[in-house]
Amino acid sequence: MKQIALAVCLLFSFGSWISLPAEKLPSPFKILPQPQNVSLLKGKGLQPGSLQQLVIKGDFKPPVMGNILSRLTIGNSAGNGTLTLILDKEIRSLPSEEGYLMTVSKDGVEINATGEAGLFYGCQSLEQLLEDAMDFKKPVPSCRITDYPALSYRAVHFDVKHHLDHMNYYYESIDRLARYKINAIVFEFEDKLRYQRQPLVGAPQSISLEEMASLTRYARERHIEITPLVQGLGHASFILKHEEYAGLRELPWSPWAFCPLNEGTYQVLFDLYRDAIKATPGSKYLHIGGDEIGNIGLCPRCKPTADKEGLISLNLYWLRRVCEFAKENNRIPIFWDDMPLQYAGLYTSTWSNAVDSGEAARAWKQGVPKLDSLLTDFPKNCVYMRWNYSMANQPGNIRALDWYESHGLKAMIATATNSEGGMLFQPEERDKGMESSGIITIKNFIQLAAEKKIQGMLCTAWDDKSPHMENYWRGFIAAAEYSWSPNGRSLQEYDAAWLQREFGISMPDYLSFHAQLRKGSVLWYEALFKKGNLLDDDNALLSLKRVEHWLPPLAGQENISFDYTSKLIGLPDLKSPGSWSRKYKDRLDRSVAEIDQYPALSKRLQDLYDHSRRNKYYWSLSLALYNFQISTPRLLLALKQSDSPDKAQQKAGIEEVKKALGEFQKNWSALQSAYSQTRFISYPDNYIPDRYFHLASQREDLSWMIQAQELYHGMINKWLQDQWQDAASTTVTKRRIK
Ligand SMILES: [Zn+2]
Repeated sequence: MKQIALAVCLLFSFGSWISLPAEKLPSPFKILPQPQNVSLLKGKGLQPGSLQQLVIKGDFKPPVMGNILSRLTIGNSAGNGTLTLILDKEIRSLPSEEGYLMTVSKDGVEINATGEAGLFYGCQSLEQLLEDAMDFKKPVPSCRITDYPALSYRAVHFDVKHHLDHMNYYYESIDRLARYKINAIVFEFEDKLRYQRQPLVGAPQSISLEEMASLTRYARERHIEITPLVQGLGHASFILKHEEYAGLRELPWSPWAFCPLNEGTYQVLFDLYRDAIKATPGSKYLHIGGDEIGNIGLCPRCKPTADKEGLISLNLYWLRRVCEFAKENNRIPIFWDDMPLQYAGLYTSTWSNAVDSGEAARAWKQGVPKLDSLLTDFPKNCVYMRWNYSMANQPGNIRALDWYESHGLKAMIATATNSEGGMLFQPEERDKGMESSGIITIKNFIQLAAEKKIQGMLCTAWDDKSPHMENYWRGFIAAAEYSWSPNGRSLQEYDAAWLQREFGISMPDYLSFHAQLRKGSVLWYEALFKKGNLLDDDNALLSLKRVEHWLPPLAGQENISFDYTSKLIGLPDLKSPGSWSRKYKDRLDRSVAEIDQYPALSKRLQDLYDHSRRNKYYWSLSLALYNFQISTPRLLLALKQSDSPDKAQQKAGIEEVKKALGEFQKNWSALQSAYSQTRFISYPDNYIPDRYFHLASQREDLSWMIQAQELYHGMINKWLQDQWQDAASTTVTKRRIK
């Protein structure tokens, strides 16, 4: 008891996020996110099969439970084998209604909380303990757990700009997120909601308001809020691509931004917001976007204001209007905060590693008076979402958070589960200081939020290159871990907990295994390009006109086509064998290394699939991605074989090239089939394209992923034909000589 009293005392003196000296659960038991405090008790522990009934004390509905606990029947009186849930508003040791106290003994379990969310989270923790007990055939240790979250808004991002997942995948995702105590999803609808008031905007393949409302209710029963995100002023091409809305564009030729001084803009936006609110009944927030505007202050209506008061006045006019709307409709608006910072010349200091602390200090000295002068125009009901996906501790990022705090404005932080944006295996570098990537970045951002007593975080998952949603989960779950317990687990401990919870497996060398897969992804991104890689804007194969939204149309030049094959590497010249192989020695050496380790890595992935107790799909998708990425080094090595002075080698190489092309098709089909288990991989024919610089907006099916391969394979087929013709003409010449 003394320990609890001390804990309570620490809790209130240092703020609720500070984790208390916790006795850890003995191996193999792991609760994810790590609980704030665990005390082990004497006694035998609870056999997983011994829980028989559920007793509830208080006026509340029993919480939704996981696979194991939902087997219990509701009983009347406590006795051995009982899970007792007690709702007691008077428990003083819990700082929030999301907290719980749980006592486990051999006879049963008691969970106390001041709110239904706390009882729900207590049951989630118990479910995990029982899962471990069953997986490892050990009793749950007798213990007492005191637990509560550090941050009160713990959100992940579902961005459906360029794809839509199957509805059942969203339902399953909600169950999965609830297990880890995530309590919000920022659902960026774009055109995937079937708006009723502006029916033109919803894509033919979109979610109806009723379906989304059902999903919202399902999520709420699991203590998750769906926060709708509808982009407004900029990022509006999903609306303004329709000619019917062309009159609302700031520039007639650009669907990127609305005119902020056209009343019609607000009629359309408010209609979309009304539908988004209807689709998410009971939610507290409305995310209104508002980032990366550009292209405003240019129309005859706006230019005089822009000239006189600056572009920022147009931005803030829009922001005030939409925040007023949110207030009238009982929602708290959330706003990406980059535009005011840009205006004050401070934006670069928040994210660029080229800005050191001295430069940041100078920029802020000049910029703060500008920000201060706008203070009265910053809506006070708005949450300013500070976003920077790579460098939490960049001096400007910290100063921005401090500025909001000192001016009474509410901020949250956004981090990212895939800051690179790639669709294969993700970067995970922990020792590169400010430039580290992966889970460490998520942890750093959330720790910063906790230190600054910021109550909300959003783990973004951008769809620009539309990776499979499964690519995001390790990061989502890390965000759940650290927003609950920012100073709990180390990164290594997190990975162990993630593998155990998600798959019921242990894999001490996970990081080095992942690094090997990742190396192959880097090669795949670079393999076919002369310079850089597929993720560079320069190589995004913008094979379409006017995708660079900031450029005016090429008047009179619309039909000029650019030969994108010029960005790709050439093919061996069989008249000068060996020169191609010398030129591309580096990538060919890397290809050899990839092919050498293929048997071991693919077997390892297969074993992971075979031995996982849960979420096997993750490994089957990983295997499909791995087979897909290996087909490119295989092709390069076949080309190398053909690049030989030895005619027999050359001939064998050409046969290998043909085989490699066939292998690619097989692996590509397998990848499409893996994707199509959880998402639609093409749009219906009547979908109106929404094309801009995002890689995944280049095509209406998954084939945007392989634009470079398609072009390169086309080059190879022509090259093969040429070899055949050369060979044929050589034969003819030889015959003539005879
Ligand atoms: Zn305008």
